[in-house]
Amino acid sequence: MTITNRRFVLASRPTAAPHEDNFRLETVAVPELAPGQVLVRHRYLSLDPYMRGRMSDQKSYAPPQPLDEVMVGATAGEVVESRSAKVAVGDTVVGMGGWQDYGVVAVDGATSPLRKVDATRIPLSAYLGAVGMPGVTAWYGLNMICEPKPGETVMVSAASGAVGGLVGQLAKAKGCRVVGVAGGKDKCAYVVDELGFDVCLDYKATPDPAAFQAALQAATPNGIDGHFENVGGMILDAAMQQMNAFGRIAICGMIAGYNGVPVPMAHPELILTSRLRLQGFIVSEQASSWPRALGELGAGVASGSLKYRETVAIGLPSAPGAFLGLLQGRNFGKQLVKLD
Ligand code: NDP
Repeated sequence: MTITNRRFVLASRPTAAPHEDNFRLETVAVPELAPGQVLVRHRYLSLDPYMRGRMSDQKSYAPPQPLDEVMVGATAGEVVESRSAKVAVGDTVVGMGGWQDYGVVAVDGATSPLRKVDATRIPLSAYLGAVGMPGVTAWYGLNMICEPKPGETVMVSAASGAVGGLVGQLAKAKGCRVVGVAGGKDKCAYVVDELGFDVCLDYKATPDPAAFQAALQAATPNGIDGHFENVGGMILDAAMQQMNAFGRIAICGMIAGYNGVPVPMAHPELILTSRLRLQGFIVSEQASSWPRALGELGAGVASGSLKYRETVAIGLPSAPGAFLGLLQGRNFGKQLVKLD
């Protein structure tokens, strides 16, 4: 019986904010499996800010997403056919299956592109969030760059998001005072009431940079020792002015500039005068940290000590709209698409 696969390819490159026409939905037949291949029915697709960068052909840390090919993306699903002794029908797996219902994957090489996961202990979707790439991003940037110590103050932007929500919880567990920044009253209430941050500043309610700076000053009476930056612009400028001497700043994301609008830094002189360490990082390059990070994150999620929230769009056709929403802050927690 022929199985039909729906998939989104990149149809064109946006020059500013992307729009739905940049993606094209196609329907194709799933090919017969060759020896060593498996067929995965994707159950969840992860939507992530990095995809905006891949849609452009500007110089970056990764090559651009080719036009007319399946959009890049992490997926979690179930093996429904197998021609490999290494992976069995019914195995739950995560991989980089892309924006499509099914993926044909060669698994018999030295390193398999699929990771088997236990969906009985941890929900399958969490392997794309708290126990996946966003979780390791939070873990790595916080522990290896911000280097939090008990009693210190840690700040994180996009605090209610997939990465930011975990950064704050991990920093609280280290005995830090944690200040988040998020867009809107509901997101801020969640960050404090559910995730246990000490304070959350709503940057949308305080759009004036001087007023935001004053609010941050009031929220961080002892200054900031570690800052985890996900956004850039006004938020990073304010954080830098509150950093204590020898503070550490993990540059994780600059989402305010992903659509091509420059996000200049207002006070680079503070790097010198406050003796700051700013370090950018790309989590996929930190392979040696993944096993330890995933172990800790998995234990935290399984025990309930680490919390996360998901926004789930239903069905592959909803992916472009949900992705555009992610870039506008319409998601609340990890943005996923459930592929039914
Ligand atoms: P989130 O779940 O945090 O979603 C993105 C959030 O960013 C939105 O909900 C919104 O939150 C905020 N946002 C969007 N546009 C703007 C804007 N113009 N100004 C301010 N805030 C904005 O996404 P992730 O947790 O997946 O990613 C968070 C950051 O981490 C991103 O910058 C991403 O690129 C980066 N990242 C980096 C990695 C690395 O290896 N360096 C790996 C993974 C992620 P709000 O409503 O609160 O504004």
